[in-house]
Amino acid sequence: MQVNVLASGSTGNATFLNLGDTNILVDAGISARRIKKELDEIDVNVEDLDAVLITHEHRDHINGLSTLTRKYGVPVYARPDTWKAILDQAVAKDVPINCRVNMADSLDIGDVKVEPFSISHDAADPVGFSLYHRQTKCAVATDLGFVTEKVKKALAFADVVVLEANHDVDMLKQGSYPWYLKNRILSNRGHLANTDTGWTLARLARKNQCHTFLAHLSQENNRPEVAEKTVADILTGAGCKVGSDVTLHITYPDRATGLK
Ligand SMILES: [Zn+2]
Ligand SMILES: [Zn+2]
Repeated sequence: MQVNVLASGSTGNATFLNLGDTNILVDAGISARRIKKELDEIDVNVEDLDAVLITHEHRDHINGLSTLTRKYGVPVYARPDTWKAILDQAVAKDVPINCRVNMADSLDIGDVKVEPFSISHDAADPVGFSLYHRQTKCAVATDLGFVTEKVKKALAFADVVVLEANHDVDMLKQGSYPWYLKNRILSNRGHLANTDTGWTLARLARKNQCHTFLAHLSQENNRPEVAEKTVADILTGAGCKVGSDVTLHITYPDRATGLK
């Protein structure tokens, strides 16, 4: 399995996953040119993508979708209500019809089984994904205000988890965002705080070794070292060995982080 978070954060999200013989991109929130460039860097041909899976319709997850589909004809899977919300936006309304696929509750893409799961976020029908190939599992959940039982189940026993660690609560509260935006982020349909992410991982039913990418860090209300320390401290306090039981990887808005 190979996982490369090509970009992560409110300026654009895209994660490349290779399981078995199947190449999947979760979200296309950076330009098609950047997606191609980042895939070139890891010796993956953009034409070899088997599918793009869309979590939800916010701009930072679909910015590159139109060009990517028109240029390379890659099939895109999204929930029906998410498609409606995507096609309402000028940035993505010209995704070719033959590239649009309605995402079922469970789907097979090549030799990968994909199970979308609902997440709590202010979008039409937002989802995360559990992906399975033989004994290997990867789970992706960004943009969620609250970790439900369903999400905990979806993340359980994954070899690799991509999980949001959006903000430090104090930095957000003391920061410059207007109150309505602070409230939106802090709400159950907003984004996860570093402490939420830490406790989720600490209480997660895990395999012996789990790699976790801390994703969708706010540039305004978080810092990579703050996110990593907060999560690591909670894990350590819960008796988990950071670096062996759970290995943390930070993600960035402007460069890729990977694991092979
Ligand atoms: Zn987002
Ligand atoms: Zn969002």
